[in-house]
Amino acid sequence: MENPFENAQKQLSQVAQFLDLSSDLLEALRLPMRVVEVNFSIKTDQGETRIFKGFRSQHNNALGPFKGGIRFHSGVTEDEVKALSMWMTWKCSVADIPFGGGKGGLVVNPKELSLGELERLSRGYIRAIAPLIGPEVDVPAPDVNTNPQIMAWMRDEYERIVGHEAPAVLTGKPVEKGGSLGRTEATGRGGVFVLDELAKKMGIEAKKLKVAVQGMGNVGYFFAELAYARGYQIVALSDSKGAIYDENGLDPQKVLAHKEKTGSVIDFPGAKKLTNEELLELPVDILVPAALENVITLTNAARIQVKAIVEMANGPTTPEADEILEKRDILVVPDILANAGGVSVSYFEWEQNMKKEKWLEKEVNQKLEEKMTTAFEAIWKMGEERKVGLRKAAYILAVDKVARAMVNLGA
Ligand code: NAD
Repeated sequence: MENPFENAQKQLSQVAQFLDLSSDLLEALRLPMRVVEVNFSIKTDQGETRIFKGFRSQHNNALGPFKGGIRFHSGVTEDEVKALSMWMTWKCSVADIPFGGGKGGLVVNPKELSLGELERLSRGYIRAIAPLIGPEVDVPAPDVNTNPQIMAWMRDEYERIVGHEAPAVLTGKPVEKGGSLGRTEATGRGGVFVLDELAKKMGIEAKKLKVAVQGMGNVGYFFAELAYARGYQIVALSDSKGAIYDENGLDPQKVLAHKEKTGSVIDFPGAKKLTNEELLELPVDILVPAALENVITLTNAARIQVKAIVEMANGPTTPEADEILEKRDILVVPDILANAGGVSVSYFEWEQNMKKEKWLEKEVNQKLEEKMTTAFEAIWKMGEERKVGLRKAAYILAVDKVARAMVNLGA
């Protein structure tokens, strides 16, 4: 079983040779500054007491307050949360936003809970981590299986504890509770801006590119829908129950309507049924993992047939698989660039909350496009200069910026 934290540390070690880092500084960057385990109980609808375990990892705050989502998933582990918090540090650095890296997770299958239980759980988790967070300390957001409604409960619980308004304590809130227009689609939209830049570099028009997307959640769905609207051919989609493939193209909105009706994308009329593993090995142009980590591994990397991978999930490729892809000249747009649209608009939301402003959606999307294209260009240039792949280029830029901030602080 792959350990995502070991993978995150390996990725850091692989770029250390390109940077002039002292061994002490490298050691400081290899570890989170603080990791907390929380255990708390809530009452079930049947009146029973159930205990839940969660974590909050604060990796680094040299560039600004810790920032990162909260994941509700039965497979959450401390090491997963630590890895995700490290990736957030690099992501905020790549996107050039004044935040550091953090991440939270709760070991739970939220699908087994009623709405009332989910609310009590969300409030319980925030009570447990309240002393560690705050608008200028650590700012959580949604991640796998958490959403704007959960952020609204969490904001409310935090404000009850501190006794005053604090909209900027969390991002990804509903618009009427201090959220930003454009936040829901932001990660997917940011990824499509990156895809556009990549297509330009590849010299291939959108309509000639066949794209397979793994995952139909917040990230995968909006990526697919927005890419489809820009003319890309979305030929495969999936969720946790399986995948579908139609070489003539799928309309993501119709697939979503089917999923909402039947509970899954599988059995979508006219499409071929595949497994999630088969989706990854399809003979298409662009592969977009947008579900969970460690799906492209030593086992399948040699069988991947695409020209490029746009990593919308966090950590979908293991370091060993990455080496194989590099040797095979498959372009990989790394997660810390490809999915940075979410945290970028989270930052815009935080900024609006802090300044008591409300921006138009058009304004948010324009700022997002500027962020994503600037970051892509800088990383592409670094890759050419250093003759390295895009992941190493992104890490060189990101780690160097954080390291310099730490040296400024006396590290
Ligand atoms: P989500 O909960 O909305 O959706 C997850 C999707 O993955 C669902 O469609 C689910 O059915 C699918 N899935 C679950 N297990 C699977 C499996 N074994 N095989 C295939 N599909 C499976 O989550 P999300 O917010 O869309 O996050 C997806 C990924 O993107 C995660 O890696 C997350 O860390 C990353 N991410 C999210 C954001 C954000 O703004 N939400 C930002 C950056 C990165």
